[in-house]
Amino acid sequence: MKTIDVGIIGGGPAGYTAAIYSSRANLNTVQFLGVQPGGQITLTNDLENFPGFPDGIGGLELAENFEKQATKFGTVTVYDKIDKVDFSKRPFYLKTTVGEEYLAESVIISTGSSSRMLGVPGETESIGKGVSTCATCDAFFYRDKHVVVVGGGDSALDESLFLTRFVKKLTLIHRRDKFRGSPILQNRVLSNDKIEVVWNSVVEEVLHNESGVYAARIKNVENESSHDLKTDGIFVFIGHIPNTELFTGILNLDDHGYILTDRSGHTNIPGVFAAGDVQDSIYRQAITAAGSGCVAALEAYKFLEHVKSSSEVPLSV
Ligand code: NAP
Repeated sequence: MKTIDVGIIGGGPAGYTAAIYSSRANLNTVQFLGVQPGGQITLTNDLENFPGFPDGIGGLELAENFEKQATKFGTVTVYDKIDKVDFSKRPFYLKTTVGEEYLAESVIISTGSSSRMLGVPGETESIGKGVSTCATCDAFFYRDKHVVVVGGGDSALDESLFLTRFVKKLTLIHRRDKFRGSPILQNRVLSNDKIEVVWNSVVEEVLHNESGVYAARIKNVENESSHDLKTDGIFVFIGHIPNTELFTGILNLDDHGYILTDRSGHTNIPGVFAAGDVQDSIYRQAITAAGSGCVAALEAYKFLEHVKSSSEVPLSV
């Protein structure tokens, strides 16, 4: 059993920023990165709105920079997930999937969120065989082909634009007659010759055979008519679900499963903090996640200082 000051669960911008601040404050910090370090930014080809990079920066490159910076100050990174926690007493118990055990004086949760799926017939069995949630990972396989993209938010618009660098044609299916994404991306999508937008429509079935996806069954939600659109692949960008299964029944969550915190990242358990998309259902930006990671680490530092200098555990606010 290893005893540490701060255990950070999660390897996205929130977790890495918390790690930078925590280790730089001389706290003995271990960050559990999970199996895919970097989190959702690694699925983004180009981050154009992360301050400090006027020409944009690749998600993978940014994640690598975060890690270099965190380890430079002494953060120990563990490429594994935490699969068991006990927050009923301090120090808090954490166990990795390979059975390594830790006792942490304070914990920062930054487990992010996962792609929401359509939940229609044919989808699950076609993941990796024509259904994808990552243009950066899979666009290359669709060079000069036709793809369907589902969604109307920034992700769907951004990823569609990226996909047009590879595909011959892209059909963007959105369930309403108006995009949710930002005007600048809307303009780029609507003026892109390779993109055809199909409004007021949903994918109701993924049609596939032994070679993979060959069509999407598309339903117009206004007149209820359906037709099959031949396609080589279907990219789903319809939002996210917070990764909080591990904390259900342990921490207070909202109705959608996001961890409830105050504005400084305190959860209902003193000494346990949450940062990034796992507690933010509104802004969900790399930069806001990073900011909240910083705040959580500063609060963890304050918490540990207080605990050291007094026998009382500060109340959660
Ligand atoms: P989002 O903003 O929640 O958008 C999800 C989209 O999927 C919405 O258009 C929604 O339709 C649609 N949708 C949801 N469930 C659906 C279903 N079952 N079937 C069909 N369509 C469904 O999610 P996001 O695009 O992943 O973006 C998440 C956050 O990251 C946002 O805050 C966004 O601004 C940010 N982001 C920013 C950038 C950027 O700035 N470059 C890039 C990516 C993401 P409705 O509109 O009808 O609800």
